[in-house]
Amino acid sequence: MDIFDKFSALKARSDMVKKFGPDPFGVKFDEIEHATRGRIGNRSIILAGTNNYLGLTFDPDCMDASIDAIKRHGTGTTGSRIANGSYAEHLDLEDALAKHAGMASAIVFSTGYQTNLAAIATLAGPKDVLFIDADSHACIIDGCRLSAAPTIRFRHNSPADLDKRLIRHGEIEGGIALVVIEGLYSMFGDRAPIAEFVDVCQKHGAYLYIDEAHSFGVFGPTGCGLAEEEGVLDKVDFISGTFSKSLASIGGFCLSKHKGFEITRKAMRAYMFTASPTPSNIASARAALDKIAEKPELRHNLHARAAQLHNGLAEMGYDLCAAASPIIAVRRPNELVAATEWNWLLEEGVYVNLAVPPGTPQSSSLLRISLSAAYTEDEINIILKAFKDLQGQGDVLMARVQEIMAAG
Ligand code: PMP
Repeated sequence: MDIFDKFSALKARSDMVKKFGPDPFGVKFDEIEHATRGRIGNRSIILAGTNNYLGLTFDPDCMDASIDAIKRHGTGTTGSRIANGSYAEHLDLEDALAKHAGMASAIVFSTGYQTNLAAIATLAGPKDVLFIDADSHACIIDGCRLSAAPTIRFRHNSPADLDKRLIRHGEIEGGIALVVIEGLYSMFGDRAPIAEFVDVCQKHGAYLYIDEAHSFGVFGPTGCGLAEEEGVLDKVDFISGTFSKSLASIGGFCLSKHKGFEITRKAMRAYMFTASPTPSNIASARAALDKIAEKPELRHNLHARAAQLHNGLAEMGYDLCAAASPIIAVRRPNELVAATEWNWLLEEGVYVNLAVPPGTPQSSSLLRISLSAAYTEDEINIILKAFKDLQGQGDVLMARVQEIMAAG
């Protein structure tokens, strides 16, 4: 028995996709030129799948803050904050995030994934019950797996179904209900009806935890996310997020309106037993937070470009998974068609994400685009033209799919 035998079906699937061109899940960029352009070999490619919503990865202030932090504190923290100590900048960033969102408490983590893993697994103990959206991100699901609490799923974006399940479950003796949803969902780009979820949670005395990974910096009058946009931020118990999207760095955070959250720092294993974010990551995230506060025009440009792209694709008749948002997912009939089209777009100089099951809801195959405030109108027109030309390639690409499949 070979240790890798259990991956043979996955390998066969991966090998099939690779017959259409370069591995969509292993793209190598030789250089990132700026927020919207990368180079593969000698070809300049438009980056239309980066989650770099505000385009701040090349902001001069964020870059300078990062370089300065390396010069002052070195390249790494080489340990966890519990065992090896915090840097003043970790605490300053926590303070700034809490103040920005008007929350009582903030904890910074090494990634967004670890944030949800640590917080969900720890906040829900053996006597508690987790209620999560059926389309939850992998790190929410993994947080539930690590938690001692049972997990109940409710229908995606359905406060009514959550209500029904909370009623059906009845009283939780000696424990609490923790409801976990996302703000903007990462694959389809659809929004949660947050105010309605708040109402259901209040009716049942349940705690509400919202992952705003894709909505922090993007929505709300001060960029705090969709709960802020819906005017209910003060009614949400926990907001989590990542530094790897709008904040143009790497790391994560969880904010709470409860001061009591602070003690969980000494109970969360994915916080205690891993190295803290590096000085440069913290410094660039801190500088990006200032940009979110000072430059609402970044959000406005992002939404204008998202509307431009969404309208253009809808006019061409593409099947789009949700209303306009900085995530635009184009539904394709199956994985092989999507992979062929993904390759064709890359050859035309447009990089989007290929998203396939099990990473997608409803087993869908998607060409997923994430927008950036750094795009110009002209760059959106280039992406639109590529999608227009793609439609003209329908028969040729279909023949290619059939030929490769026939060859096995
Ligand atoms: N939550 C959601 C909804 C995400 O989409 C992601 C990553 N794409 C994360 C959390 C994890 O963030 P990170 O990349 O910082 O680990």
